[in-house]
Amino acid sequence: MPTLKQRDRDVVWHPYTPMKIWPEAIAITRGEGVYLYDEEGNKFIDAISSWWVNLHGHSHPYIAQKVSEQFQSLEHCIFAGFTHAPAIALAERLLKIVPGKLGRVFYSDNGSTAVEVAIKMALQFWSNRNNPRRTRLIALESAYHGDTFGAMSVSERSGFTDAFGSFLFDVDRIPFPTPSKKDESLFKLEELLRREDTAALIVEPLILGASGMLMYSPTVLEAFFKLCKQYGTLIIADEVMTGFGRTGKLFACDYIQTSPDIVCLSKGLTGGTLPLGVTASSDEVYTAFYDNDRSKTLYHGHSYTANPLACAAGLASLDLLLTPSCDSNRESITQQHSRFWQKIKGHPNVADVRFLGTILALELKAGKSDYNHEKRDDIYRYFIQHGILIRPLGNIIYILPPYCISTAQLQEVYDRIELFLNNTFKI
Ligand code: PMP
Repeated sequence: MPTLKQRDRDVVWHPYTPMKIWPEAIAITRGEGVYLYDEEGNKFIDAISSWWVNLHGHSHPYIAQKVSEQFQSLEHCIFAGFTHAPAIALAERLLKIVPGKLGRVFYSDNGSTAVEVAIKMALQFWSNRNNPRRTRLIALESAYHGDTFGAMSVSERSGFTDAFGSFLFDVDRIPFPTPSKKDESLFKLEELLRREDTAALIVEPLILGASGMLMYSPTVLEAFFKLCKQYGTLIIADEVMTGFGRTGKLFACDYIQTSPDIVCLSKGLTGGTLPLGVTASSDEVYTAFYDNDRSKTLYHGHSYTANPLACAAGLASLDLLLTPSCDSNRESITQQHSRFWQKIKGHPNVADVRFLGTILALELKAGKSDYNHEKRDDIYRYFIQHGILIRPLGNIIYILPPYCISTAQLQEVYDRIELFLNNTFKI
């Protein structure tokens, strides 16, 4: 009997995988809590929440039960002209917790589609309001917003987008606001906003994920948002990664007072169990589409929009997320990160360590940061061999664990990182 790994090799094409260089995938047969188990009997601590989605651990019995109950009554139905209880209830509950005063939830399938919808909402908002000038988007240098064409366009041009460069639309960029560049970044933003041709600013609030967990301060985020309000430009907060507690607060935008007009959610939305995207909008945005003129309709929709199973998973995940015990788990991860940060920041092989809430990133002293850094594959393999799933972003190792990770399990990850830095990693 061929193994799953062998069968996979012949028929499956994996994401973000140079298939010739990296032909073998680890075949997972079971997940429980923080662990993934493979067909060969190995287990791995999922220290990155399986691409940042998992909140409460794998195969969580409560979410499984709620999804299975939903399956008994309605698995899926069209969402144009029809609706159902899980979609309504999830929208009601999300609107109570998302940052700002948002009034509407538009469903899609994943983070990239949530961003596509946000971009379309922002552009059409101005055309519906008969303002043909506001057609530009502003994004941060180093941004990442997804892999579909609109999302790639607002993302930084990089190896991810090289093959499609001429098909991507042009976007205005402001520098990533490191402490030394924040004034320049704000200056550039204001300069662009003054032209009054901007439809929206799109940002990953506080942490740019795929570019290496680059962090910037709430003060700068607040200043960005305030400038947009001052010049009447829409703000899109892409909370696809930061949402649902990753940064310590429920949403990264909760660190500031000024509210976005549109918020994109996915990943942790279903606790990482089923694909679902949300683009939540303010009433003001929604009102621009609320018209007898059919041309003002948002003509966007996916076959699986608001899938009831995914919505049921979202509701179950919120039940778990909003408990005091989940709060204190997140708090204890943050405290553990803080202690590890203290301990490791002066290590000779470490260029920088940063953390916010449950996310910690450690940049190795190893030349220029790059996703395809020459050491990347060795680092990945090292941790896999030691039973830990970490997918370095080039020379940046990060931990973004499910909230159910125990103190001992998280310590195991830190200890392994320290051993790697002390014994294996060579500058
Ligand atoms: N926005 C951000 C901030 C992300 O980090 C990601 C995914 N890493 C996306 C959008 C795209 O989400 P998805 O992979 O679900 O399409």
